[in-house]
Amino acid sequence: RAGDLLLKETAQRLASVLRDSDTVSRFGGDEFTIILTDLEQDIDSELIAEKILATLSEPYQLDEQQVFVSASIGITAYPDDADNAEAHYQNADSAMYAAKEAGRNQFSFFTQKMQKQAKKRLILLNELREAIDKQQFELYYQPVIDLTNNTLNGAEALIRWNHPEKGLVCPDKFIPLAEETGLISLIGQWVVNDALEQIKKWQDAGYEFHVSINKSSKQFHSDDCAFDLGKQMKVMGIDPSRLSIEITETVLMEHQDWILTMLDNYSEAGIKLSLDDFGTGFSSLSYLRKFPFDVLKIDRCFVMDLTEDNNEAPLVEAIISMGHKLGLRVAAEGVETQQQLDFLRHNDCDLVQGYFFGCPVSAAEFEQRFFVNHEWMSHD
Ligand code: C2E
Ligand code: CA
Ligand code: CA
Repeated sequence: RAGDLLLKETAQRLASVLRDSDTVSRFGGDEFTIILTDLEQDIDSELIAEKILATLSEPYQLDEQQVFVSASIGITAYPDDADNAEAHYQNADSAMYAAKEAGRNQFSFFTQKMQKQAKKRLILLNELREAIDKQQFELYYQPVIDLTNNTLNGAEALIRWNHPEKGLVCPDKFIPLAEETGLISLIGQWVVNDALEQIKKWQDAGYEFHVSINKSSKQFHSDDCAFDLGKQMKVMGIDPSRLSIEITETVLMEHQDWILTMLDNYSEAGIKLSLDDFGTGFSSLSYLRKFPFDVLKIDRCFVMDLTEDNNEAPLVEAIISMGHKLGLRVAAEGVETQQQLDFLRHNDCDLVQGYFFGCPVSAAEFEQRFFVNHEWMSHD
């Protein structure tokens, strides 16, 4: 009877960490089989395996007695590892035995390749935790030029990781993992604080300046408090309008109601909002009307193609005029050539940034090149 209760409770726990679209079944004895569909990448199965191990390691209360169990998990990927159900099942089975042999309470992948990938990810995750502890991050700044009056409008702050061995690591190498594991909140907090300190330093040195920071969808919580940030800025003596938050459409797609309230709060606190990477997602026009954005940033991929073939030109032109009609300023990112700049200027784009004016650089270098030497001016 205790065994039956244990199996039932296990099935419930498994179901609780899986999505409705996944399949759980019991093949016999103490073995369960789980089919995960629609994974963005095979390696994501690892995160789910971790969740399963965690939920099964909680104590079980079976009638009068409390018991503890652990699981061994074997993972195989379709269609990479096998193309039929039978072979697939056997692969998972042999991977599971590998996990048992390795000491139980763990998971193992069928292929070396995935096993290696999982190991790499684990190492990266540990290093990332350490990076947060030891504050190995640095914000780089890229100039943003205002074409309406040919001035330096501000900078976008972009995070870099000063890895003790690998050197400077770009965000696409660690932001996704930070998002998956929730570490992004800690990193995001560091980003805001560091950016504010920098704005303050520049302000004290006489450079009244605007900085935008990026915030990914995983960083938004319903208890996010825009007013606290506004207050923090006021205490530091910084006008809240000196800070912009760049968000992408994925933020808007989930939980529209409280996201709207939250963005309204930012706006009310005087903090500016930009819609980043416009044109790559749903590019819903209703978003632009509904949410309180100040700036619309045309994604780099449209700007890039402006010269190669001119298919994108009418699109960019249309986005700029639509943005203007909705009362937004329009920014173009990824400007690399004079032709792109000429086109954008001709079509009344308000703000531009890209390698043509300057790559992202450290705060010290930014100050020297753009405040002192006015380097961006040589290209107009
Ligand atoms: P993003 O917000 O679209 O940032 C623009 C990216 O384009 C930056 O890459 C920048 O270095 C690059 N870029 C700028 N000008 C040019 C150009 O002329 N040509 C080309 N080919 N590229 C250009 P980076 O710094 O590697 O950042 C990549 C992404 O990482 C960012 O995309 C942003 O989504 C994310 N990210 C960066 N910093 C943070 C952060 O502090 N927090 C969060 N949540 N995400 C961040
Ligand atoms: Ca951005
Ligand atoms: Ca962007």
